[in-house]
Formats: sequence, structure tokens, C-alpha cells
Amino acid sequence: MRICVIGAGPCGLYLASHVRSHEVVVHEEHSVVGLPRHCTSLVSIRGLQELGLYRKELVLNRFRYIEVIGPSAYPRYRLDFRHYVACVVDRPGLERYLLQEVLNRGHVVKLRSRVVAVDPHGIVYTQDGAREVYDVVVVAEGGYAALTKQLGLYDYMLTKLWGIQVDVLLEHPIDSSTFTVIFDRVLSKKFFAWIVPISDRCVRVGLGDYRVSIDKLCTLCRYVEKVLDLRIKRWCSEVFGGVITLGPPLSLVKSRGSCIVVGDALGFTKPLTGGGVVLGLTYCRWVANYLNSTEVFDPKVVRKYLYSKLANIHLKMSFLKHFTRVFHLVGNGVLRSTLQLVRLLIEDLEGVDFDDHTTLLLKLLHLR
Ligand SMILES: Cc1cc2nc3c(=O)[nH]c(=O)nc-3n(C[C@H](O)[C@H](O)[C@H](O)COP(=O)(O)OP(=O)(O)OC[C@H]3O[C@@H](n4cnc5c(N)ncnc54)[C@H](O)[C@@H]3O)c2cc1C
Repeated sequence: MRICVIGAGPCGLYLASHVRSHEVVVHEEHSVVGLPRHCTSLVSIRGLQELGLYRKELVLNRFRYIEVIGPSAYPRYRLDFRHYVACVVDRPGLERYLLQEVLNRGHVVKLRSRVVAVDPHGIVYTQDGAREVYDVVVVAEGGYAALTKQLGLYDYMLTKLWGIQVDVLLEHPIDSSTFTVIFDRVLSKKFFAWIVPISDRCVRVGLGDYRVSIDKLCTLCRYVEKVLDLRIKRWCSEVFGGVITLGPPLSLVKSRGSCIVVGDALGFTKPLTGGGVVLGLTYCRWVANYLNSTEVFDPKVVRKYLYSKLANIHLKMSFLKHFTRVFHLVGNGVLRSTLQLVRLLIEDLEGVDFDDHTTLLLKLLHLR
């Protein structure tokens, strides 16, 4: 089969790198992969290991602790996972690594090739006026999901927020094994803010919300100086961010004709944080496995195959989605009580996967 992948983000590239038995052409609108950046790049170490992507040269920093801060800095406590559970990856580096894997497989990657329209029968139209016909089209275009909407596959029930962040240089070194999440409606009305050390002198400061702005980022930086007592020397990166999609989608498999959607465009992300790297790539590996196993793309068979893989995750994610909807809506009072309760309930986080928020939640509620 001739397979077209639209988008050379982590999902598109990972999928392409796993397709062995077919010809793949990846279309990417930008002239390089991995840029411009939008992601905080905090991922679970276990998740990366399972994907075969936990590579020293791609890991910028690792975390054992999460510091949780409530409204007006109360409550404030640190959760100890007993060993390194999460890391910040070099996202442009990850994409460059995956690009090389795709090229090593003998596939084609067309940079500066923006796809402007897709026909469900596998016809792809690019900005330069070309028309190409494929047996399968994998839409891995990310959270803006323009082609997914065009194909009628977009899930309008998904919650979309905006994220904004910047890397800042500190005057003094800090403990880089802890990252911080701040739940305070003054900083973010519907989501949370984060401080993720990239090294002991540089931290990524950001927040998500229905509306974000440089002003809000400045307020967060002032908060960091005042409440966390960190002296910021200067901003040391461009301000970056983008659409955060809170999954999961209503239907976990979205396909039409010979087109299938993956990654953020599908909304295959964690409901609580919008993190989509591990989940999205895991899904892409299953799609690639299906494609490797067949000579003809059959939407019914692919659905059956993917649903069998997703059965366990679906239930967990749906449970968390409902919890999250309420959690992101409550005001500072309820937020504070919830965080206090979490602190009281926590006994032992040993063995809990950082990415598996549902198990974490059930553990807190003593249900597991
Ligand atoms: C502010 C923010 C913080 C985040 N933090 C985290 C985090 O800490 N951990 C985590 O796991 N996830 C995080 N995420 C989510 C994570 O970035 C996504 O889940 C992940 O990037 C999804 O990968 P993707 O390949 O589906 O999409 P993308 O990474 O968006 O890649 C899509 C690619 O498709 C290309 N493209 C789009 N349209 C076209 C077209 N028409 N033609 C050709 N090319 C096209 C784009 O240029 C891009 O290269 C964050 C997201 C945001 C916005």
C-alpha cells in the first residue's frame, strides 16, 4: 500500500517509523521538524521506555518529586514517587531522532509540503497545487485539526485550552528533581500553572487557560519570585505554546474512507493535563501494527483491532475525564479542600505510574 502521513510531529513520525511493509510519504508544512516548539515536554519515564524512546541524549532533566501548590499558596506539599518517574525531553531532538528513523526505513519525508485538502478516498492536495493518490491517509496534524474538521471527523465535544510558557534563567541553583503544579484561579481560571526545571539554573514557567497572554505569564513569573522565592535573571527562550486538547475523544477511533486520524487531532490525550506524547505514540504504534499486518485498509477491521487494544484505557480515561471536568470548573475554595484531602489520603506512591492518573486517583481514594 502507499500510505500518506500528514504531519511530522511525534505521532506522524513515530507511526511512519513503525511501518515496515508499505511505502510511506510524510508531508510536513514546516521546513524543519520539531519547530516551532509548543510543548512543555514532560513525560513519564516508563511510558518513554515502553515506546523505546528513553534515550540519554533526548532527556534534559528527570523528576522524582511533584510539588503541589493550592490557592494563595495553601496547601503546599511535595509528593515523593521514591524514584525518577518523569523527565523533560528535548522535543525538537526527539522529532529529529524520529525523522532519522523514518528515513532509515527508506520512507520519504516532504518538508515545506502543506496539505490543504484531503478526500476520504485517499486524494491529498498540497499547497503547491500537487494532487497525490494514496491507499491510506493518516492525519497526524496536531491540535488545530483543520483537515480533521474538513473530513467531518473532528470531535466538537473535546475541551480545548491554550498553553503559554517561557524558559527563564535563575540567579541561584535549585533542586531540579522537583517540578511544581499550581492550582490557583488567580493564575489560571480553568487549568493550572507549571514550573518545570530544565536544569538547576533554568526553569520552564507556563500556564494553560481558555485565554492566555504575556501579561498572565508575567504575573506567573512574579508569583514564582514572590511565593517560590526564586530570583529570575532573565527570560532565555522565545514565548511558546499552542492548543492543549483535553481527551479522550467520544469515539477513540476516527476514520472515514481510507483516512484515519491520530494524535492531538483525534484528541487522544490525558484528560487532566492534555499530555499526549506517550498516549498518542502508543496509539500510533497500534495503527502501524495494523497497517503492517494487512494489504488492504479496511475501516471495520481497523476499528475492531484498535478498540480491542483500547478497551482498558478507554474506561480509565473516561472516568478521569468526568473527574477532570468537575475539577477544572471548581473555584479556589473547593480546589483548596480537594488538595488538602489529597494530602491526607496519600500514603505511598511507590509503583504508581506517573502517566496513569486514574490509578493514582483510585489509590488516593483507597479503591485499589
Ligand atoms: C502548551 C502545551 C504544553 C504541552 N505539554 C505537554 C507535556 O508536558 N507532555 C505531553 O505529553 N504533552 C504535552 N503537550 C501535548 C503534546 O505537545 C501533544 O500531545 C503532541 O505534540 C501531539 O503530537 P502530534 O504529532 O499529534 O501533533 P503535533 O506535535 O502538533 O504535530 C503536528 C505536525 O503536523 C504538522 N501539520 C499540521 N497541519 C499540517 C498540514 N496541513 N500539512 C502538513 N503538515 C501539517 C505541524 O507542522 C506539526 O509538525 C502539550 C501541548 C501544549 C500546547
